[in-house]
Parts: sequence; C-alpha cells; structure tokens
Amino acid sequence: MSSSPSHDDADNLSAFSAPTAYTATERANAKLLNRFYEPLHLLAVLNADRGPGEVDLPSAPQSREFRLTLRRSLDDLAWLCDHRHGGETVSAVAVQDLPEGPKFWLVSKHEASFEHLKWVLRELSAVGHSNDEEVKLATRRIAEQSITLSKDKVRRYKKALKLALAKVKENQTTSGPMRAEQFVDREYCLHEVEAITSITDLLELCQACKNFNCWRTLIEVLRWNNLQETRSPWASIWHFVGRLGCWFAKCENLVLTAQQLPRLFENAGCEFLVLPTERNIPVNKSNVNLESALKRMLPVNQQSGVPKLYEQLTDMRLFSIPDAFSENFTNDRLMGRVHAEVFLLEHFYFNEFRPWVREKYIGCSKPSCYCCSLYFRFHPGNFVLRPAHNNVYVGWIPPLMTRLDEPRERKHNLDIMNQINAYIRRDIREEIEMRMPRRGKGADSTSGIDTLLIPSAVATVI
Ligand SMILES: [Zn+2]
Repeated sequence: MSSSPSHDDADNLSAFSAPTAYTATERANAKLLNRFYEPLHLLAVLNADRGPGEVDLPSAPQSREFRLTLRRSLDDLAWLCDHRHGGETVSAVAVQDLPEGPKFWLVSKHEASFEHLKWVLRELSAVGHSNDEEVKLATRRIAEQSITLSKDKVRRYKKALKLALAKVKENQTTSGPMRAEQFVDREYCLHEVEAITSITDLLELCQACKNFNCWRTLIEVLRWNNLQETRSPWASIWHFVGRLGCWFAKCENLVLTAQQLPRLFENAGCEFLVLPTERNIPVNKSNVNLESALKRMLPVNQQSGVPKLYEQLTDMRLFSIPDAFSENFTNDRLMGRVHAEVFLLEHFYFNEFRPWVREKYIGCSKPSCYCCSLYFRFHPGNFVLRPAHNNVYVGWIPPLMTRLDEPRERKHNLDIMNQINAYIRRDIREEIEMRMPRRGKGADSTSGIDTLLIPSAVATVI
C-alpha cells in the first residue's frame, strides 16, 4: 500500500482541488462530491444490487386504498410518457393542489412526453361522465396513442421475447423431474408465447400480452428451471410478456381511476420541466485510489483499521477490487445525470407546492435507484418513500448541483448528502464484514404483473 495522508474531516480534504473547467461553486463542492462518489464507486464494485427498497404504506385503512390508487396512477402516467427504451425518457409526475384544479407536473427530457401527457389527461377528464362503451373506447384510444408513441420500445420488447422463446426451444432441459401434465402445460405455454410473437400489429400484440393466461404455468416452469437462474430465458419470457401487457394494463387502471376519482382529472392543468442533460461529474480524480478513498471513508480514530480493510477487500472477489475501483472512478467517459423523481421532489419542496390531497408522492416511470431512495429517505420534506430496485448508479448527480450558489440550497444539499454518505459507508462496512457474495444486478423495471400472486423467489426476476 502506498502512503497517503489521512483524510476524514472536510478540512483534510482541502488537499483536493477540482479541475479548473468547473465553476467556482462546483470546485467548492468537489470535496463533498469526492466524499460521496468514492464510497459509491466502491459499493458499485462490491455489489451494485442493494435489494428491494422500502415503501411507505398509508396506515389509516380508510385512506389506504385511495392513496395507493393515486400513487399508482401517478406512476402509470409517468410510465406512459417514458416512450424510449433505457433511461433516455424516464419521466416523473406529481400533482399539485391549486384552487382552480389539480396541476400535473412532468419532468422528462423530451417535449413529446409532455404532449402525450396533456393528451392523456384530456381523455381522462372526459371519462368521468362516459358510459361503459365510451369508457372502453377511451381505454383503447389511450393505449393506441401510447403504443404509437412507444413503438420502438414495443418492437424492442417483441424482439427480446422472440429471442427468449428461441433460446427456450434450443434448450428444453429442466433441473427437476417433470410429470406428463407438466410437460403438456409447458408445451401449451410455449404455443401461446409463439402465437403472441407472430402478431405483427403492435396494438394487438400488446392486447394479447395483457390477456396472456399462462402465468401460473410460467411460475411452475420457472420452478423446474432453478429459481436462482434469474437470467433464464423463461424469466425473460415472463418479463417481456409482462412488459408488453403493461400498456393496456396501465391504461385500464388509469381509466378506472378517472371513474373512481373524477376530480383528479377535471379541470386539470399540466406543466413541463425539462430534465437537465447529461454532463461530466465534477470530482477530482487525481490521487484517488482505493487506499486513499478508504482513509477518507473512515473517521480519524479508526484510521489504524485501513490496512486490514484494504486487505479484506483485495481478498473478497476473484477480480481485483482496487483495480476495478480505480478504473471505474477515473473513467473519463462516465457521464452523470440528475434523476427525474428527485428533480421533481426538489421542485415541489423549494416552491412549497401543496401536493393534491396532501399526498406527498412523486410518481416515476421506473422504481427508484439506490441514491434516489436514500435522497427521499433523508429529505426533510417527508415525502413518501417510493418503490425501488435500489441498483447503484455511479453516474447519479444530486438534483441541486447547479443551484449551490444559493445558501439555502447549499445547506439543504449538504445536510442530505452527509446523511447519504454516512449511510453508504455503513453499507460498505457491512458488505465487507459479512463478506457478501456478488449479486447479479436486478432489472430496473417491473413487468407490471401483480407480484402478490407470485412466490417471492420468482418475483425477484421480474
Ligand atoms: Zn435514481
């Protein structure tokens, strides 16, 4: 191990100076950012999958269903706006309470998402006074328009489903004995999936996936094919049929909500906030290696434990953790982005918006990542904790990064980030002390299937 100065307090970090290309504010905050990104990178190298997150559930039984419906509707609206594959169009939606009516706020990178949300809200506002036939037609119209907007995504899912089906056919072996009726069930299930993949019309394809009736058989097949094998093509079939069924499932949910809670959509306004574009992360990368990072992570009175910790880390994986850490941390191609849900959270908080029916929920098209989850947890606004996949993304940027010239924002950011940093350090200690094996990174989205019906081990793959 090379010798480098001990760091713990912010004072000790004065040895750092950020590259001059950054603003004065960013340079001033480089120390804080290094204290955040160094442990975050180490955690990502150790185990990027932090397991499912906690969700705040309403405690009062009379309001529980109402609030859960509202939360799901906000997530569903955001999901319909997220029209491209990957993180490009992740969208967040929250609703503000105003005397003239509710106002929906959308955060996304693309204007097309906003145009779609405005159109969907107009359709939903009319549903409250419609008869059954009109409701059915409205559901189909919203699904059709949403699928047209997301046609590239739908095609990509269909392609992935076909690939999974081909792989299943290629390798028909199972880990356990199969009874004759199980074999028949599996063949029927394969036949149904094959029929789905042969549908060329995207609307009909999505409708068929929504009506797919072999979920129970799929669970059984996943059991025979070793539940631990989360990358199994059967798990992919599960995932992509579920994803393709989401367009109709979410539209049906929204239309039902519009019938049950018409005042959520009547006279509703809509506003758009553009998510900041990707950018370099303003941290100091020089003189950073695993040993120096560990010294900054540990308090002054625990510095003597650094060599032992370093040794434990070098011994923990088949690959070199010090090398992986340095390589990832100094990667100049790594770009960072602010995530939509925390961006909207701060917009509501600093503008002192009153959420509709005082439900402090920020909807999002995807479950939250590890850093967003922690940001919600340590935020002073007491917003509801969102569903989370809790994957560690080292390109996560704090939502107030560009506003740290303002003393209030700076203090607010510092308070939250200090708590997040302390949490990450505890997480790393636990990871090392318990010598946790490396887990496969979980999917950052869900299949939209009711996971309550599914055994927990199967639910982890969707
Ligand atoms: Zn996030």
